[in-house]
Amino acid sequence: MSFADMTDLPAKLREALAAEFTLWESKVVRHLQAPDGTEKLLLELPGGGRIECVLLRDGVRRSICISSQVGCAMGCVFCASGLDGVDRNLTTGEIIEEMLLLQQLLPADERLSHIVVMGMGEPLANLDNLLPALATASDPKGLGISQRRITISTVGLPPAIDRLTREETSYNLAVSLHAPTDELRDQLVPVNKAIGVDAIMEASDRYFEASGRRLTFEYVLLRGVNDRPEDALELAARLRGRPALLNVIPYNPVAGLPYETPYFSAQSKFREILESAGINVQFRERKGDSINAACGQLRRSTPTATEA
Ligand code: SF4
Repeated sequence: MSFADMTDLPAKLREALAAEFTLWESKVVRHLQAPDGTEKLLLELPGGGRIECVLLRDGVRRSICISSQVGCAMGCVFCASGLDGVDRNLTTGEIIEEMLLLQQLLPADERLSHIVVMGMGEPLANLDNLLPALATASDPKGLGISQRRITISTVGLPPAIDRLTREETSYNLAVSLHAPTDELRDQLVPVNKAIGVDAIMEASDRYFEASGRRLTFEYVLLRGVNDRPEDALELAARLRGRPALLNVIPYNPVAGLPYETPYFSAQSKFREILESAGINVQFRERKGDSINAACGQLRRSTPTATEA
């Protein structure tokens, strides 16, 4: 989209607009496309810094995964985004621009259907700027994507979850648990030391009670670290009785980090234990592997995929 495309405006006005204003503030530094239809943009922001955002095609779904901060302060040990800490929060305008730039990748007869705020950054650490951006996305005069099709992913910051509860939002909440006990989670998600799994579960339950939105818990499965049968048993005990979905994501290795994809046999056993405990579990397909679709990977790597 450019001023030149606004053919309902007089040509002279279009020229004047193009001379005086810019339509896009963010610059697309790279645009990668994977054979499965996933597309990823690396953006350079007007306020400084680079972020990634992704378009995923799945049947009729057109989902986007957007970033909320430059870098991330949560320090999850297996994640490329947090390796250098956080630089700053994205502005509301920068978040909206991610959505619009991804929408532009679709043909004219297709619309974005779902948004997940699961890219770089901790969304609940930037609620002041994120909530107005999501309000624009869900407004029928904006992108018209209902709150029920928008998911906010978080490591679990109870005061911010309670703010969503108070503000009576209907966004889906995806809590990145990654470990069933504080002992293990303190090692994988360092910010947990100041929070604790119990407080996260309690705040999540309050959000569920207020919003009625089914909770999702995310669990990145790391070989030999949190993929053992005893981890599955403790996780089952944590989740039992909660109307929640458990999303297990076999780890996607990151250059320079020591973690590995779990063996298939360990994945099967993990799944079997949870299923026999009655937990609603799904293993998530890793889309866009060939373009480093996991958050923070493109920013740090030299891409090898097709550039467009
Ligand atoms: S996994 Fe998410 S919360 Fe953790 S460091 Fe990476 S971007 Fe931050």
